[in-house]
Amino acid sequence: MGAQVFRDFTKSYPVIVRGKGPYLYDREGREYLDAVGGISVVNIGHGVEEVIAAMRAQAERVAFVHGGAFANEPAMALAEELARWAPAGMDKVLLLSGGSEATETAMKLAFQYHLERGKASKYRIISRWTSYHGNTIGSLSMSGRTAWRRLFAPQLLHFPKIHPPYCYRCPYGQSYPSCKIACAEDLERTITFEGPESIAAFIAEPVIGTSAAGVTPPPEYYPRVREICDKHDVLFIADEVITGVGRTGRNFGIEHWGVVPDIITTAKGLSSGYAPLAAVILHEKVYGAIVKGSGQTTQGFTFSGHPLCCTVGLAVLKYLKEHQLVENAARIGKFMLERLTSLKRFPIVGDVRGLGMLQGVEFVADQATKRPFPAEVGVTRRIVEGALAEGVMIVPGMSGMIDGALGDHIQISPPFVFTEANVEQLVGAVEKAIQKVMRELPARA
Ligand code: PLP
Repeated sequence: MGAQVFRDFTKSYPVIVRGKGPYLYDREGREYLDAVGGISVVNIGHGVEEVIAAMRAQAERVAFVHGGAFANEPAMALAEELARWAPAGMDKVLLLSGGSEATETAMKLAFQYHLERGKASKYRIISRWTSYHGNTIGSLSMSGRTAWRRLFAPQLLHFPKIHPPYCYRCPYGQSYPSCKIACAEDLERTITFEGPESIAAFIAEPVIGTSAAGVTPPPEYYPRVREICDKHDVLFIADEVITGVGRTGRNFGIEHWGVVPDIITTAKGLSSGYAPLAAVILHEKVYGAIVKGSGQTTQGFTFSGHPLCCTVGLAVLKYLKEHQLVENAARIGKFMLERLTSLKRFPIVGDVRGLGMLQGVEFVADQATKRPFPAEVGVTRRIVEGALAEGVMIVPGMSGMIDGALGDHIQISPPFVFTEANVEQLVGAVEKAIQKVMRELPARA
């Protein structure tokens, strides 16, 4: 066998050669509407000239310097701009290359924060089932994604998990508001059972991304999480790798709840995919403790603060502002949610949810009982393939959000340049895919 790029040994993919706005084109000239921005990445659309020009100009000046030896202007300017985007008090920025690097680094900085304050026993992170924080051992240990954890279970760190705020299938069999946000209260119970002296941080995606796309907690959820964390000297890490830089219609997703976290991780849309880029943004409280303590951190990688990638980040943030794309994400997101909600007229559509440009559609065998399809029916895969046949790209949500194994859903997270017409094309394609699946479904499903 010859040389091969490997990702999934069982599949072959269309070869994409060009992109413009919300569209991608393959080698055969076929057009795809990219309704997931790659994978919640391409927020400003493909082929933006301003970003390409900025990259070229920076490459001509200098593409790389080592952050351990030199500072560079794009990194300094990007840190300043990101601090303007972030909640008040969060202006210390570490620039990295990807989401897993960011969450892994956030985890280690949470440990270091407590170490610097003489609390070495705080060595565990609480997270939620039905979550994804990355694929390195530390970040996978925080992730509640059962399918990806299984193979490496013996190597994963022992981090406790609580239930997600998944109201459509409340893990406590209750409904909002009479539930009194039992899912948030479970954080306090878990901290108490585990022993607050052992818990360094709680990490959560403000709106769930790939594991149960679009699941959005009730208004009291994060304020209560913040209170519980403060009470037990536990840091709150908002993993905004997907929800950051505008995807939910606000600069950062957590702003919808009026809560300021201690650490924010962000990646994906920060560079809109034009270069690998991520950031960890620290609250003054965390930064101050480290500066007052050892005054040092070893959290860095070869490509941290890469001048070319930071130039891209700056150009993307500028483009988002100049074209008011965060506002557009809020506006078109609202329209898209309405249009997708109309799909509930099909008996296999159980739930439609989301905020801004991060939405999900969950499929069920029975709308009344919410009974899921057996995994072998492959409903998610069939819907995604059906939409692709109509020229629209969506991504399969990870199965397993119900019980670790079952659950069908799709993720829809378009570029912020999406128009009403793009939304209609997307909804039309999903509709056709649903109708096709309904025709093909085995009678027993
Ligand atoms: N955190 C969240 C919320 C994510 O959705 C992802 C990736 O999908 C990651 C972390 C990991 O990011 P990366 O794939 O860039 O390592």
